[in-house]
Amino acid sequence: MGLLIRFASQWVAGETMADAIARADDANRRGMGAVLNVLGEHYEERATVDAAMDEYFALLDAIHARRMDASLSIKPTQTGVTFDADTYWQNVQRILERVRAMDAFLWMDMESSRFTDVTLDVYRRALAEYPNVGVAMQSNLRRTEKDVESLLEVGGIVRLVKGAYREVPPVGTADRRETDANYHRILELLFERGDRFAVGSHDSAMIDHARELGRKRPRRFEFQLLLGVRDPLKDELVRDGHRVQEYIPYGPSWLPYFTRRLRERPRNVLTMVRSFISG
Ligand SMILES: Cc1cc2nc3c(=O)[nH]c(=O)nc-3n(C[C@H](O)[C@H](O)[C@H](O)COP(=O)(O)OP(=O)(O)OC[C@H]3O[C@@H](n4cnc5c(N)ncnc54)[C@H](O)[C@@H]3O)c2cc1C
Repeated sequence: MGLLIRFASQWVAGETMADAIARADDANRRGMGAVLNVLGEHYEERATVDAAMDEYFALLDAIHARRMDASLSIKPTQTGVTFDADTYWQNVQRILERVRAMDAFLWMDMESSRFTDVTLDVYRRALAEYPNVGVAMQSNLRRTEKDVESLLEVGGIVRLVKGAYREVPPVGTADRRETDANYHRILELLFERGDRFAVGSHDSAMIDHARELGRKRPRRFEFQLLLGVRDPLKDELVRDGHRVQEYIPYGPSWLPYFTRRLRERPRNVLTMVRSFISG
């Protein structure tokens, strides 16, 4: 387990808030913002949701006290959606009250398609009251282009990602090619009709397309990349004058996140096995 944690630490800041703050400090020193996420999902106990909420409030205090360039990203199933939409909304609202007082920003992560409707409902309610809130939208869902179109009509702030959850047609895309084609199109839509949004990808094809679109149509957009992925590219984007944010997850429940990262890039499994063999 110790070796596994050591290997996972390239993508996960560590198990404690202090670990996350240290990595966020590092991101800030490199000219990037930090988006902090407490790992954990599918909470079925109210006490676990309450503990996640307490952690987020403590995290906001730490960000504020240190005047860090940092925001939060929260998952629906860790903040109440597993009970009902109202619990989720009330928790989002509680965090947003604090976020507004601090003039900070809240990102709402998107989970599997089971939760898309409720996440978007809560996001719309949040946006109507609080300006500093954004939501992740996944190009591996066929509905996303329409969802983004309608969010842009009400000034929605979108983080466009490919999607980390396995989805199948007719809800999900048929394959990677369709997901990528969707991403391309939605990116163009964002530059056409949006003003403030985030490009959440490590894919050079998507990043280069965004850079090109940004040259033609200056917008308040930023790049968001995960901790431990494509560090030289992050530095290059910063040097080119782009706003870049590093998404920094932490917490004891790191295993599902870690396996997702391994699945996305099978060559990481090989690297991991090699590092275990060499100790
Ligand atoms: C900031 C951020 C927030 C996210 N939030 C969510 C969310 O709320 N909900 C959700 O479902 N998903 C989220 N994701 C995950 C996302 O959906 C994808 O699963 C993940 O980003 C992988 O997709 P990709 O766009 O990087 O492209 P991929 O198709 O995985 O990779 C494309 C290409 O990128 C390059 N690449 C990828 N990794 C590396 C590497 N380590 N080194 C070198 N090149 C590499 C390779 O050229 C690869 O072929 C988020 C991702 C980011 C970056």
